[in-house]
Amino acid sequence: MADRDGKIWMDGELVDWRDAKIHVLTHTLHYGCGAFEGVRAYNTAGGTAIFRLQEHTERLFNSAKILRMAIPFSKEQVNEAQKQVVRANKLESCYLRPLTWIGSQKLGVSPKGNKIHLMVAAWAWGAYLGEEGLKKGIRVKTSSYTRHHVNITMTQAKAVSNYSNSILANMEALDDGYDEALLLDSSGFVSEGAGENVFVVKDGVVYTPDLSAGALNGITRNTVLHICKDLGIELVQKRITRDEIYIADEAFFTGTAAEVTPIRELDRVEIGAGSRGPVTEKIQNAFFDIVNGRNPKYAHWLTKV
Ligand code: PMP
Repeated sequence: MADRDGKIWMDGELVDWRDAKIHVLTHTLHYGCGAFEGVRAYNTAGGTAIFRLQEHTERLFNSAKILRMAIPFSKEQVNEAQKQVVRANKLESCYLRPLTWIGSQKLGVSPKGNKIHLMVAAWAWGAYLGEEGLKKGIRVKTSSYTRHHVNITMTQAKAVSNYSNSILANMEALDDGYDEALLLDSSGFVSEGAGENVFVVKDGVVYTPDLSAGALNGITRNTVLHICKDLGIELVQKRITRDEIYIADEAFFTGTAAEVTPIRELDRVEIGAGSRGPVTEKIQNAFFDIVNGRNPKYAHWLTKV
């Protein structure tokens, strides 16, 4: 990914993609303390627009606060940087990756004395779990790895280090022939996917784990809460067991990258009819209407670049 044309915003200026480099003694590279965001821009009828930009920037600053990192830029500057990167790379629709990290002034677990850096990159990225996955649903494996306990690492931070757990779970699932992993919390209740929040549908009611299960407070998850309210669908946040998913009518993942992706199978157990269910499809359609600017009620969630 490093060898390509384009611009990356790095510590306040746009630099050539190939020159956006850091030193091997970067603190975050050694100890994993850093935070990032995943954001998407869509090609709406009114032009390219970033979806829920303010909320993503807010979460980035909250992640940094949790990790005791002081980002040396204002939220307005970080919002502007994201718009600038989309424009500079002439992208109509794309994925954006802001990341804040601790510099290379000194090593040792204590990060004190190091500079805090920030970068924003953007590139075209289609359906994270595949176009076919969006339509037909994906196959998921309950991971042998437990999701983070809320007091081992900070689960409301989108922290770089949290993703070693996601990577292990995802690799295991892919090696075993599945599309994605589902992780349980340390009490055995459903937490989330390796990079997605999870929902189930049973008898017309939509359920999702409450955040005490260690799941990230997903912005797409929040968008689905709004959609359910608008569609008059009851939504309950509660503890969920893996067998509740086996016997659910429908299940789906949500995430900025994954958007709304149906789950057709968990641990080789077919969920419902084993395809995208009608409630999932309704929610998915409403989601794509919102992000593509076809629902005026949520025009304020789209920031033109
Ligand atoms: N959980 C995890 C572990 C994630 O990486 C993501 C993607 N950011 C999500 C949930 C979904 O969050 P969002 O909808 O804000 O992208």
